[in-house]
Amino acid sequence: MEQLLFAVGPVKMHPETCRVGGEELPYFRTAEFSRLMLDAEADYLRLLSAPEGSRAVFLSCSGTGGMEAIASCVLGKEDKALVIDGGGFGHRFVELCRFYGVEHEALELRPGQMLTEERLFAVNTEGMTALLVNLHETSTGTLYDIGMLGRFCKERGLLFVIDAVSAFLCEDINMAAAGADVVLTASQKALACAPGMALLALSPRAQEKIGKTEQRSYYLSLQSALDNGKRGQPPFTLSESVMLQVSHRLRGLQNGGMEQERALMQQNADFFRREMARYPFTLFSENPALGCTALRTPENLSAHELFLTLKDEYGICVCPNGGALRDTVFRVGHMGDLCREDYLRLLSAFDDLQRRGKL
Ligand SMILES: *Cc1c(COP(=O)(O)O)cnc(C)c1O
Repeated sequence: MEQLLFAVGPVKMHPETCRVGGEELPYFRTAEFSRLMLDAEADYLRLLSAPEGSRAVFLSCSGTGGMEAIASCVLGKEDKALVIDGGGFGHRFVELCRFYGVEHEALELRPGQMLTEERLFAVNTEGMTALLVNLHETSTGTLYDIGMLGRFCKERGLLFVIDAVSAFLCEDINMAAAGADVVLTASQKALACAPGMALLALSPRAQEKIGKTEQRSYYLSLQSALDNGKRGQPPFTLSESVMLQVSHRLRGLQNGGMEQERALMQQNADFFRREMARYPFTLFSENPALGCTALRTPENLSAHELFLTLKDEYGICVCPNGGALRDTVFRVGHMGDLCREDYLRLLSAFDDLQRRGKL
């Protein structure tokens, strides 16, 4: 049975993206492929309003590979990072810092809790060099305030590192205005391509930092990616079909395409969240991001069981949660090629479950 996909990655792909990904692949050590890479780099930086002199690199790995490149090649043992830890992806940054011996302090939030100015500015940042944040903490559907974080980093002189894997395209990210130094995303979230590529935008300050930092990964070396990328080439064979999809999408999002797509996501999310009032779910996050809606199920209903029922009996794949939230929270994505009809199908499944006394 074909599954209607409301996951947060991979997401429902546009037919054109599927077509691009299914094509015969060209050899990539050519001037033509270099052109494609350089254009994709410029397109990504433009969508982020990156400051003059910024660069972008494409790594053949999932989003976590991009996070690992940050912990191993942007940061070193001489750094001390403040990590905003409000869920699964915040924990991952903490674990990566631990793994690579980067000194760090976690600002821990309850799952779904909003980061307030009071809480953030109360942190003593003496000796700290960087701030790591998952702008949209996807595990709980919670968005942090990029403007506030930017002001904080500027005031405290911290390198501002944003995991925007599930925030890119969904949220307004202006690197120059926010003073962001690193912005990471991955191919399978709102870009709606196949998984397998991490995109990193690097401000001049981030490039300088990388130049001074021992690259503690061979495959993920950002210095090597930057050096090779100057001529539009990756250091190693890249996930080429994903790159072709990414390049195609980045081009299509230029000249207002991104804003148009965001407006559509907003419409879908608003519609879905409004309709949710009819069911016994509650919004989980104090500050919901656009990319997905995290919902808490009522006492007597396991969120994981609901995920299984929707998948097996209705052909609808919502996004389950793991760990402590496994039985209480599930998520419904708004990224990818989703339309009103798709949400109506999900709502009618909820209606049917109510009729059956299962909701
Ligand atoms: C999806 C996601 C990642 C990357 O996860 P992968 O499974 O490695 O692609 C990282 N950070 C956030 C916030 C995400 O949503």
